[in-house]
Amino acid sequence: MIKYDLTCKCGETFESWFASSSEFDSLCRKKLIKCIYCESSSVKKSVMAPNLPSKSNKIFEKSKLEKNIKKQLLDFRKYIEKNCRNVGENFSREARSIHYDKKTSKGIYGKTTPEEASELIEEGIEVVSIPWVDKSEN
Ligand SMILES: [Zn+2]
Repeated sequence: MIKYDLTCKCGETFESWFASSSEFDSLCRKKLIKCIYCESSSVKKSVMAPNLPSKSNKIFEKSKLEKNIKKQLLDFRKYIEKNCRNVGENFSREARSIHYDKKTSKGIYGKTTPEEASELIEEGIEVVSIPWVDKSEN
């Protein structure tokens, strides 16, 4: 017997037991495997990942979630590039000058080390660090 996590096009995931993987394949071909939630036969085997609880739809959700996060980060990056000034390596210096001189209200972005960032935060300067998503990736 072999247990598969099955994912339906409706987004639900459930478990089912089969005599073998070839039994699964033939049932699947004959559309005899039905979603227990919506009875659709558009059911696929979930990707098996070791070390993850198999009885939930976590695997499916995780990849969906990662895509969403990535998209949000990408949108965020675009927003920052459009609305803020890139100061590159001078980030902590520029951040201080904005904070202390109140020269400009325009936001800045750039590179800083975690140490510099925590120094800035200690000085009461608002710093947000975000993962800089590479645009070329999908
Ligand atoms: Zn379904």
